[in-house]
Amino acid sequence: MAIFNNRLTAEQYKEYFSDIHPPFETRDAALVEANRCLFCYDAPCTKSCPTGINVPKFIKQITTDNIKGSAHTILSSNIMGGGCSKVCPVEKLCEGACVFNLMDEEAIPIAKLQRYSTEKAIAEKWPLFTRKASIGKKVAIVGAGPAGLSCAHTLSREGVDVTIFEKENKGGGLMTFGIAAYKVTPEFCADEVNYILSLGGIDVKYNHELGKDISLEQLLKDFDAVFLGFGVGIARQLQIRGEELSGVVDAIGFIYAIRTKGYPSVAVGDKVAVIGLGMTAIDAATQAKRLGAKEVTLIYRRTQEEMPCTEEELNIAKLDGCEIIWLASPKKLIGNNGKLTQLECSKMILGEPDASGRRSPVATNETIVLDVDMVIKAAGQIPFENLIGETQLNNAGGKIVIDIESATNITGVFAGGDCVNGGKEVVDAVQAGKDGAASIMRFISFSRKGAK
Ligand code: SF4
Repeated sequence: MAIFNNRLTAEQYKEYFSDIHPPFETRDAALVEANRCLFCYDAPCTKSCPTGINVPKFIKQITTDNIKGSAHTILSSNIMGGGCSKVCPVEKLCEGACVFNLMDEEAIPIAKLQRYSTEKAIAEKWPLFTRKASIGKKVAIVGAGPAGLSCAHTLSREGVDVTIFEKENKGGGLMTFGIAAYKVTPEFCADEVNYILSLGGIDVKYNHELGKDISLEQLLKDFDAVFLGFGVGIARQLQIRGEELSGVVDAIGFIYAIRTKGYPSVAVGDKVAVIGLGMTAIDAATQAKRLGAKEVTLIYRRTQEEMPCTEEELNIAKLDGCEIIWLASPKKLIGNNGKLTQLECSKMILGEPDASGRRSPVATNETIVLDVDMVIKAAGQIPFENLIGETQLNNAGGKIVIDIESATNITGVFAGGDCVNGGKEVVDAVQAGKDGAASIMRFISFSRKGAK
C-alpha cells in the first residue's frame, strides 16, 4: 500500500473528471424538454427554489428561442444560476417538486435547461444587467463566495460602490474550491466570477483575509456598511488516537488540492477510507477513486435513512465503485513508523432521536478493522470561532447571529451564508447575499437622510 500521485494517463484524468451532467447536444433536444413543461400556475418548482427563480417563465422563453430573456429571468433571481445548474441538489429542490413526479413521469430537467441558457450568457458575455449611476455609498464585503458575489452584484446594480475582500487569490468560494471537479470545472467557475464582476462597480481585493490583512473595525471606518460572507472552512477533527499519522487528511484540503493543483499532482492512497456521508464526503470519495485509488470505503455512523447526502449523490459513489459501511464510527487510527496502516471502527446501533430528529448512533463493544493507507475526514466543518470571537460579533458556537434584516449586533455590519447557517447549499448562500443587499440598501438609504 502506498500514497502517490500521477497514477493515470492524461486521457484517463480527462475522461474520469469530465462533466457528469453533459449539456443538451442540440437545440432541438432542449426544445423537446422545454415543450414538455406544463407552465404551472403557482409553480411548485419555483416555490422550492431558495432564490425563487421563475422556472415556467424561463422555460417558456426557451421554447420561443428567447435565450437572452431566459438567462435574464434566471440570473436576475440567482446571479450564480449557471453554477447552481451544475451543483444544486435539484432532486430535493426544483426537480423534486415538479408536478411530473406526481404522475410517475420524469421531472422536467430544469437544471439542464437552466444550464442551456446561462452557459450561453456567460460564454458569450451577454451584458444582461446595467449598473445605476453611483449613489456615493461604499460597501465592503468579506468573502467572494456565492453570498458575497450575490450581495455585491445586487448592490452594484443599485449604484453602490462595492469592494470585496477575499482571502484566496480567486473568487467563487465553495464553488471554486470545494466541489468535485466533474460537477463544475475551475475554468467555468472563473468565467462565472468574471461574468458577475463585468457589471462594474465591484473591486475585488484578493489575498486579503479578515483578522490578518483587514479588520472589521477599519472596514467600518472606511465604508458605509459591511457584509460578512466568509463561509465556514475548518474541518471537524475526529478527536481519536492516531489523527496525526501521515496519510490522514481532511476532505476540504483534499478537494482544494484537486481544484487548485491539477489532478496529476494530487496524491492518493491505494486503500482509502472516507469518514462521513455528506456531499463533501461523497465528493472526496468519488474523486479519490477517479484519481486512481484501488479501494475507497465510506464510513457512516448511521443508516441510509439518516444519511445527509441525497440518493443521487450516493448512487454516484456506488457507480464509481466506492463501498459503504453503515453503522460504523472511527475509534482509532493505527500506524507504523508514523504512517497510517489501519482504521479501527466501533460498530454502532441506533438509539433515541437527537436534536436533529435523527436516531443517534450508540457505540457497541464490537469493532471492525480496515487496512488503509489514507483516511479522508469529512465529518463536517466548524465555523471560524476564533475569528468571530475577536470581532465582538454575537454568535452561537461560532455561527454569526443575525436578525430578520440580516443585521448583526454591530450597527452597519450584516452577514449571510455559511458563516451564519453553518453550511448549506450554494443556492442558499446566493439568496442570503440578496437578502443582505436588500437590508444594506435600506440601511444606507436611511443613513443618506442623515439618520445613521
Ligand atoms: Fe414545468 Fe414541472 Fe415547474 Fe410545472 S412544476 S412549471 S411542469 S418544471
